[in-house]
Amino acid sequence: MIDLRSDTLTIPDDEMLKTILSAKLGDDGRVDENGRGEDLSVNELEDIAARLTGKDEGVLFSSGTLANTAAILTYCSPGDKVLVDEILHIYKSEKVVFEKSVGQLIPVLYKLNEKSKPDTQHLRQLMEENDIKLLCIENTHNFSGGVCLDANDLKEIYDLAKEFNIHVHMDGARLFNATASLNVDPKDLCKYVDSLMFCISKGLGAPIGSLLCGNNNFIKKLRQKRKLLGGNMRQAGVIAAPGIHALKHNIEKLKEDNENAKYVSEGIKDLKKIKVQDKVQSNIVMLDVSNTGMSPEEYCEAARKKGLKIRPVLENKVRLVFYNGINRKDADEVIKIIRDIDKSM
Ligand SMILES: *Cc1c(COP(=O)(O)O)cnc(C)c1O
Repeated sequence: MIDLRSDTLTIPDDEMLKTILSAKLGDDGRVDENGRGEDLSVNELEDIAARLTGKDEGVLFSSGTLANTAAILTYCSPGDKVLVDEILHIYKSEKVVFEKSVGQLIPVLYKLNEKSKPDTQHLRQLMEENDIKLLCIENTHNFSGGVCLDANDLKEIYDLAKEFNIHVHMDGARLFNATASLNVDPKDLCKYVDSLMFCISKGLGAPIGSLLCGNNNFIKKLRQKRKLLGGNMRQAGVIAAPGIHALKHNIEKLKEDNENAKYVSEGIKDLKKIKVQDKVQSNIVMLDVSNTGMSPEEYCEAARKKGLKIRPVLENKVRLVFYNGINRKDADEVIKIIRDIDKSM
């Protein structure tokens, strides 16, 4: 069975797991006057994250959802308005900061343009019409099929936000898939956001964790929010050590995942009933199944019977995600399965 439901399916290899045995551990919830915890492995991971992204500090979280939530609630108070697009992970999937029982923030929806990037004209209009506290963007953009925002896109968005004194938070769950695809230094993208989150638990292959990066003042308040939300951990070096290993060894490998995604999309683009996403930019491929006579759920079931696990997303699409457990031979098999299904329709 080839499983392309998500890049969260990566399983840590022995080399990564071994790093836990020799990790220097301590109580990360016990902090000194600088706000640093006593787990040296966590501190090392946070410092690497800060260095990679060009921010002052990084903070380890157990999940990306918790990291995004803590960041957004650091910027905003109940009733504040936040710019999100309709299929932004934070809005569509996580929801927590907009929940009446939790964050109580008000979403203001901006449009994506024909390239599935934030429509800056619409953003400007919304900024003029509303008192906006925060703008959230996503890079790569999951539900539009791993679309990458490059430095020019980000600069334009950032400059606009600063005109209106609005903070910019980037959900960079797959930031390093974006930098691999664009062939840029992460710092060159991250300088155009005030804060960002990236996951070590996805394509980078670590079992658990996400890093939130930003500048000193912000991070000081963020650490208080993390504690308030129950996000402090104790000997979290057991998750930081595999994370350090991931950042040292697995960033380069993301290129292969991006290439496999493109390879599969090329191998099925002539099919009539399945419409494959136009320009695959990273490790995600979306298939539009509306002309197949099957629902996304039915299509996924048909694929499963042939040995391919995939996931329905949005109204009429299924998603394929490539990660380090999937090689070129698997990619060939995926092409064959999708072509087989098409023939049998
Ligand atoms: C996975 C993901 C997150 C965070 O997910 P967690 O499962 O909470 O770690 C956030 N944003 C995007 C775009 C994601 O794909």
